[in-house]
Amino acid sequence: MTTATDTAPAKPATAFQAMLRGFRGRCPNCGEGRMFRAFLKVADECPACGEELHHHRADDFPAYLVIVIVGHVLIPIVLAVETEFAPSYWVHLALWLPAVLIMTLGLLQPVKGAIVAGQWYGGMHGFEEARRLRELAAAQLPAR
Ligand SMILES: [Zn+2]
Repeated sequence: MTTATDTAPAKPATAFQAMLRGFRGRCPNCGEGRMFRAFLKVADECPACGEELHHHRADDFPAYLVIVIVGHVLIPIVLAVETEFAPSYWVHLALWLPAVLIMTLGLLQPVKGAIVAGQWYGGMHGFEEARRLRELAAAQLPAR
């Protein structure tokens, strides 16, 4: 038998699950609707479940985190290549400039999605009401 709760989108059980949904560019609430309406523009609300997403305040944090990640991955490799092979500067430029561009552009949207989803899960900024309603709905469900 199908009940209303069976067809409702599965709420994320943990912050990690919500942030994983955000990392994949999906709504943290339902995991189905797209979080972004452009490369780095978060949709005002989820097209699938209608969850409000415009409350996020990611600001510069995704860019900062991407710099930290890309730096920690590439700098040891750059230093290893330099100490082992000592190639000329144009080889470094030809290797690392595309690597940095691909990694930063590839990580920026997923990292921003994860941060927005983390803010949503934690009830930060304007997400307090959504979190309060989630907790209220969870308290009214019978224990499994
Ligand atoms: Zn949704």
